[in-house]
Amino acid sequence: MMKGRVHSIETMGLLDGPGIRTIFFLQGCPLRCSYCHNPDTQQLAGGTEMMPSEVVQTAKRYLPYYRRSGGGITFSGGEPLLQGAFLLETLKLLKAEGIHTALDTSGFGHEMFFDEILELVDVVILDIKHFDRDEHRKLTGVKMKGRNPFLSRLAAYDGKIWIRHVMVPGLTDSKRSMDHLYQSIQFLAKKIEKIEILPYHKMGVEKYEALQMAYPLENVAEMDHEQAYVYQEMLREKLIRDQRRKVLTPAV
Ligand code: SF4
Repeated sequence: MMKGRVHSIETMGLLDGPGIRTIFFLQGCPLRCSYCHNPDTQQLAGGTEMMPSEVVQTAKRYLPYYRRSGGGITFSGGEPLLQGAFLLETLKLLKAEGIHTALDTSGFGHEMFFDEILELVDVVILDIKHFDRDEHRKLTGVKMKGRNPFLSRLAAYDGKIWIRHVMVPGLTDSKRSMDHLYQSIQFLAKKIEKIEILPYHKMGVEKYEALQMAYPLENVAEMDHEQAYVYQEMLREKLIRDQRRKVLTPAV
């Protein structure tokens, strides 16, 4: 059976999905975000090999916590969709055990697994990096060809969606940027349960120093928390208004 590469495991997580969760950070990411806080997860080589059944065994140790809190398992990274076959097999086993699952993703990975994965996942935490093609390439090193295929697949998704976006001064902290974000997710409004605009901070800088890597945003200031919160609430209000409407048309 297929093994996966796991960078690390966090127990008792409270932020990445509902309730108390065990978070499996999978190794490997196709993006190279300028502000990445976990550059040590980017290379696919590395981490610890685990079978899907070992992930389930580990996850089951904390079942009483999930049951009491409405929690479960979250796959994060790195980018979990980069290990699509492993993720799919593991999700099937977790589903059979009745364990709630969440996927923390930027939507880049093996497209052939997207639909099956989405049938099994209860919450998608969609981390949107940038909405403009050129800016996306500058920020992540990866060019978007049209709309992100994973985002398009979410049109048919039955579960809940949390939207996340790291707001970076000079890159995405403008009304125009927020309008663009709104337009790209508006068609999902009825499924969106939570929206988080996370102010960019420099807490990952030491990791770059330890890995002897240059920090790409060295000259960028941290994002003002209050301003990020104001944008978040503006976006949330627009989406709530849309949730009350009957029909939502996908943005092109
Ligand atoms: S998607 Fe996440 S793990 Fe990958 S480079 Fe960006 S911030 Fe780092």
